[in-house]
Amino acid sequence: MTNIDLLPRLLVMTAVLLTLVARQPSVADEKPSPASLSSQDIEPASLNSIPSQQPARIQTIPGPPPVYPQDPRVLFITASDCEQCFRDLIKLRRPGGDFEAMQSRGWRIGVGHHNHVQIVDRDDVSELVKEANIREFPAVVCISEGKILRGFKSGCTTPLDSWTLGWLLKGKNERPEGFVSEPARVDSTGSYRLRGNHWSVDGDWSPTRAIILTHLRSPSHGYQVAANYKLESWSYEELRSLHDDLHERELALYPAARVPAGSGGADNFSAGRKIMGR
Ligand SMILES: [Zn+2]
Repeated sequence: MTNIDLLPRLLVMTAVLLTLVARQPSVADEKPSPASLSSQDIEPASLNSIPSQQPARIQTIPGPPPVYPQDPRVLFITASDCEQCFRDLIKLRRPGGDFEAMQSRGWRIGVGHHNHVQIVDRDDVSELVKEANIREFPAVVCISEGKILRGFKSGCTTPLDSWTLGWLLKGKNERPEGFVSEPARVDSTGSYRLRGNHWSVDGDWSPTRAIILTHLRSPSHGYQVAANYKLESWSYEELRSLHDDLHERELALYPAARVPAGSGGADNFSAGRKIMGR
C-alpha cells in the first residue's frame, strides 16, 4: 500500500477524532478564574493516570502553581473503603475515556482546589460531608462559596460521565439526545421520569421526602404542579426530579442574569438564587 492510498483514510480518521472531541462538554464559556490564567497541572501521577503525552498536557500553560480555588467546582468525594469510588474513577480515567476527553477541552481535573473537578477524600471535606448529610460515596457535587448547588445521584438512569460532570459545573444539560441510559436502581412508581442530576433544595443537598413534598406544595411551586400529579404517592427520586425540572423550566424563562440581586420575591428557592449560590 502506498502513502497516497493511506492519505484519505488518515483524513477520515482525523475528522472522526475531531468530531468526538468537539462533542465533549467544554469549559470555555465559564468565566476565567485566576487559576485558569496560570494553570499548570500539579496533581501526582498516582491520582491522575492520564499519560503525559496526551493532548491535554500540551494545553496547560506554563506558570506558577495555581493558588486560587475554582468556583464553582465539582467535588468528587471518595472514601477509603469505597469500592464504587475506585470503579468509577478507573472508568473515568481510562485511556480515551471521559477525563481525557474533558481535559482536551480545557477541564482541569485533579486533587487541588484549582481544578474544575477536584478529587478529594471525605476526611478532607469532613465539614461539608457532615453539614450536607452525605452518606453515599462517591459523592459528586458542585459547590460554590462552600455550598452545594447541584449534585449527582447514581442509580437514576443517568450515567456518571463527562456530560453529567458538565451539567454539575454549569447547570446546563448539553448531553446529546439518544444516549444509553442505565437501568434504574432506585425506587420508582413510574409516575415521573427519573434524572439523577439534582439541584439542592434551598441549599439543602439532602432534604427529606417531607421537606420536598412541602416545598412542592408551597406557593413557590404549587401552581406549577399538574393537578393530576399525586405527589404523596411518588418516590423520593421522582419528587426530586420534578423539582429539578420545575427550576430548570424557570431558568429557561428567566435566565439568572435577569434576576436582580436580592429579589427573591415569594419564591425563596428561585433558580436565580440557586445559580448565585444563595
Ligand atoms: Zn424549589
